[in-house]
Amino acid sequence: MYHSSLNIYLINQTEECVLYLKDYPYPKNYRVNVYADTTPMPSSLKKADVLLVNLPTRDILDFLTLYKQEGKKGSKLIFNTTPQRRNLILNSPDKDLVYDLWPMAMTINSFSFGFKKLFANIHRDNELWQKEQCLNTVINSTDSLIWFKDKQGAHLRVNDNFCKAVNKTHEQIQGRGHFYIWDLTPEDYQAGEYICMESEIEVMDKGERCLFDEQVKIGDELHYLKTYKSPLFDLDGTVMGTCGVAADISNEIFYRQYSSSTQKEIAELKHYVYVDNLTGGDTYLLFKSKVRSINRNGSIIAINIHDFKTINTICGTSLGDIVLKRIWMILKDLNKPEDLVARVGADSYVVYTIDDPLEGHIYKQHEFVARLQDLSHELDIPSLIPYIGTAPYNPNDDVEIVYSRACIARNLLKNRPGVIGLTYTNEMGNNAKGMRSLEAAFDDALADNRIELWLQPKFSPKTNTVVGAEALVRWRGKDSIIIPPIKFISLLETNGKIKELDEYIYRKVCCYQKRALTENGKLIPISVNLSRVSLFSNSIVRRYAEIANEFGISRKYLPIEITESATINDVKSAETIRRFHLEKFPIHLDDFGAGYSSLANLTSSSFNTIKLDKTLIDNIAKERGAKLLKHIVSLAKDLNISVTAEGVEEASQKDFLTELGVDDIQGYYYSKPIPEEEFWEKYGK
Ligand code: C2E
Ligand code: CA
Ligand code: CA
Repeated sequence: MYHSSLNIYLINQTEECVLYLKDYPYPKNYRVNVYADTTPMPSSLKKADVLLVNLPTRDILDFLTLYKQEGKKGSKLIFNTTPQRRNLILNSPDKDLVYDLWPMAMTINSFSFGFKKLFANIHRDNELWQKEQCLNTVINSTDSLIWFKDKQGAHLRVNDNFCKAVNKTHEQIQGRGHFYIWDLTPEDYQAGEYICMESEIEVMDKGERCLFDEQVKIGDELHYLKTYKSPLFDLDGTVMGTCGVAADISNEIFYRQYSSSTQKEIAELKHYVYVDNLTGGDTYLLFKSKVRSINRNGSIIAINIHDFKTINTICGTSLGDIVLKRIWMILKDLNKPEDLVARVGADSYVVYTIDDPLEGHIYKQHEFVARLQDLSHELDIPSLIPYIGTAPYNPNDDVEIVYSRACIARNLLKNRPGVIGLTYTNEMGNNAKGMRSLEAAFDDALADNRIELWLQPKFSPKTNTVVGAEALVRWRGKDSIIIPPIKFISLLETNGKIKELDEYIYRKVCCYQKRALTENGKLIPISVNLSRVSLFSNSIVRRYAEIANEFGISRKYLPIEITESATINDVKSAETIRRFHLEKFPIHLDDFGAGYSSLANLTSSSFNTIKLDKTLIDNIAKERGAKLLKHIVSLAKDLNISVTAEGVEEASQKDFLTELGVDDIQGYYYSKPIPEEEFWEKYGK
């Protein structure tokens, strides 16, 4: 493989020998030049690799001196000698420069014998050099650390990487032991530089390659090595040492740990995404994917709890959390194991059941309500009233869309006291769509002054004069067509804008009252409606009081109407009502007798007036209805609460109510709600 150019320099050799060398069968990779001469030339000395010198005795020492100065390093000098010359050379201080001594006047036979041996040596040296080259190249071409040690643990040879790792030169390492090389503590070092040979001893005992995991400190860092150690065999087959090849796997270990820690993070993330932290059950995300994989007709039920905020407010969030978990457990318990239950967030739950939507819905609803009642008794908390919306699901549907349908149905329940469950219909969906466009249009209307105050008078049936009015909102569309409140109040309640609207109407009423005050010096009470959502605002009482002051209107002319259903089991609302009452705003209990009715409400000292709902008035013609009204009115009188009858359309109704002693009558019998300006013209002046 290698290429050797060999210059052979002959002095005073026979023609025959010269020819022999020229014709010698050198291997192909040798380029041999043979120079022959009678006297030595310094220029030739410089390039000769082999010198075969036959000189008279007296010239030998001169030649040695010249060779010492000019001879090529590593070249081989051979003299032809007589015994006399031999002594001369052996006594010279430069005798070591001489490679060999051959006899004088050699036959071609003995010359060729000698040269063969000489060339064999040269060739072996070159081969050795080549092997050395290969070995060095191999051991320095890897990231691993490589070393050769003798039996005692002294390092014979290491690769460059090894030197780098221990920050020492090859020379410093050569012949030294583990503790010195790895800069271990003086105590360890004292114990013996060449110990720490456990794994080497194992390899030498076994006589075969073994794999070890080792840790070493390189610089300031701990490194992990995967080390193959192999025995080195001596000429006689016994083990004379070891060879170690150590791959630094610190980075791999780091990445492995890193990736296992990211895997752990992914697992945690999955847990977070799929497991509801409060109930320990499925999250909505997992629920959706489970429903998709079931691939069967069923129904999706959206559930939340009426006014759950109150539970958190009065009982604290930790009890609130317990309640939420218990509700989840009830739902799990009510449904078949193959049904799915998840908490969507806050007090919202979703159920997937393969029941027929209607049947399953109604069956569960009653049992669910009963179980919730038990729970509120057990935990001594306000009643838990559910809203349940159901939508049919088939596998072609998007789970999310079906859930939103169930929510649409459920949300409608907020405006239907007494009803707890509704199943989605397409009509509901269309309305919901309409509502979304309504939402944007409402903002425009407010900005364009198209949200108007209308007033409906309240008459005293005894005198047939106007004694008050109720403020009712009207939305005038761009086309001037009036949109009734029923179409938008519930939407504004869900998006929170209702507070803005209530205050807007209240201001308009204050403004109207101020006009009446300045122009007539005389006022009648004009009641305003307050949504249950507005009742949750902490600052509402203060703000309403400030606005009244700003317009200079006495609060007794600004009664607040609160729907009866808003006051039920609602501590926050009750508190707001109490504060309005303390601030001397008259409180009218609206829609009394519709939906949830509780005579217990009458015992609350906060109410000044009850407004009998139209449903009660509509039943006057029936005997039981008339009886019921009679008792309610007499009870109210006993409790010193005045009574307004709402939705009175017939003279007969008016007469009956007059006889019962109802204080005010509000209804189409006297007047429909009319625009503010018209009211002013008719009754204000
Ligand atoms: P409400 O407070 O019970 O108002 C009385 C409703 O009964 C009014 O409907 C009124 O027009 C209607 N009404 C009065 N007399 C009769 C009658 O003899 N026969 C019939 N069939 N109906 C009669 P309106 O104005 O459509 O209001 C509906 C509901 O909208 C109100 O019910 C109230 O809850 C809500 N609302 C109206 N204005 C506001 C407001 O400014 N804020 C809030 N939060 N709610 C409002
Ligand atoms: Ca009202
Ligand atoms: Ca009413």
